[in-house]
Amino acid sequence: MTLMVDQPVAGTRFRAFGPRQIDDIARRYGLDPDLRAGIALLAHVLPFRVNEYVLNELIDWSRPEEDPMFRLVFPQRGMLPERDERALEALVRSGAPSSGIRAEVARIRAGLNPHPSGQREYNVPVHDGEKVPGLQHKYRETVLYFPTQGQSCHSFCTYCFRWAQFVGDPSLRFAAPNPDRLGRYLRDHPVVSDVLVTGGDPMVMSTERLRGHLEPLLGIPSVNTLRIGTKSLAYWPQRFVSDADSEALLRLFEQVAAAGKQVAVMAHFTHPRELRSTVVTEALRRIRSTGAVVYCQAPMVAHVNDDADTWAQMWKAELAAGAVPYYMFVERDTGPYDYFKVPLARAVEIFHTAYRTLPGLARTVRGPVMSTTPGKVVVDGVENHSGGRSFHLRMAQARNPALVGRPFRAHYDTTAAWLSDLRLAEDVPQDIREALRP
Ligand SMILES: *Cc1c(COP(=O)(O)O)cnc(C)c1O
Repeated sequence: MTLMVDQPVAGTRFRAFGPRQIDDIARRYGLDPDLRAGIALLAHVLPFRVNEYVLNELIDWSRPEEDPMFRLVFPQRGMLPERDERALEALVRSGAPSSGIRAEVARIRAGLNPHPSGQREYNVPVHDGEKVPGLQHKYRETVLYFPTQGQSCHSFCTYCFRWAQFVGDPSLRFAAPNPDRLGRYLRDHPVVSDVLVTGGDPMVMSTERLRGHLEPLLGIPSVNTLRIGTKSLAYWPQRFVSDADSEALLRLFEQVAAAGKQVAVMAHFTHPRELRSTVVTEALRRIRSTGAVVYCQAPMVAHVNDDADTWAQMWKAELAAGAVPYYMFVERDTGPYDYFKVPLARAVEIFHTAYRTLPGLARTVRGPVMSTTPGKVVVDGVENHSGGRSFHLRMAQARNPALVGRPFRAHYDTTAAWLSDLRLAEDVPQDIREALRP
């Protein structure tokens, strides 16, 4: 049973705005002309999509250029290598034909490492002699599932590590149109207990579509948890409150629970402001009322959330809303990486400063975590010893289960921002060293 709220909370219909609406948005919020021009320029290269809720409820329009929420959704100057920005601007100003601009945009995108860690190509399982589209099986217990209709979002994040797919990357073709192959794969691989439905954002699908993808999994005894990776709680919490099929969605979650399975909503919250509106609080309450558990994760990104107070506030707000802080990720080497990256030394310090302020129940969070080709590597801390300073690292997840939980060390470095920037300590065991070799 789900309760109706007395007043429809911001009961507007979802509508997305893209690059064509930049001028309208600029007029509406009185954006500085130079800022507007920068957004229009960068939106040639980076995906841009926003909606009424993000514009009205999340962004502070009094100082947009300093606002973390504005930086989170509006591409802007400084996000691309300077010479690329200047070359593109010169070309656009010169009134170059669109074919010329397209070619320059393609060149710039290719230089932004559009496929970090080979996410889409690796880990695609072969079953009955052929690759299974829309599936990735990297860690023994968990399969990633990409439904075709879930390959967009209610709004795009400027730091998205899957940005390339939103600007027309052909890897989208490999998403799964329906769960038939997934179902067969799971029945033949009972070791898989978790299916992580991801995208894009599966919550852009109608409830009927989502039901079509989830229902066939309910009869598979070895499947215990259906995880749904989503940014919708931050960008369109109306999905669970006032959309035409919100009630049906909550009943679908209840149906999963009634079948003896768990729904885990893997919520992407980047900033505490995303947890402040009455709509998101109501959305979280409704999701929990179905028996689903909400776990929260996000990367640490410069200019948006790279300070301890922001994380402490966010984790406390998550806990207060009945959600579980889960992972703090390290930003991947892709897209506007130089703008968003945070050195590991700083990330781990921010993590610990925030972590120390938490009640034990919020210390479920792990991080900072690098999701690398061999596995998820946690930076546990920095140690001073007679031989100097080291990072303590640990495999939180590994393709090879024998490596899970194993600690190892790397030389301390103030600028390293990814595993590939680190020099492993001399005493790192051979099996770990081999797994981590590029
Ligand atoms: C993070 C991740 C998972 C889930 O790992 P958990 O530690 O169980 O949350 C599964 N598959 C891939 C590819 C991942 O990156």
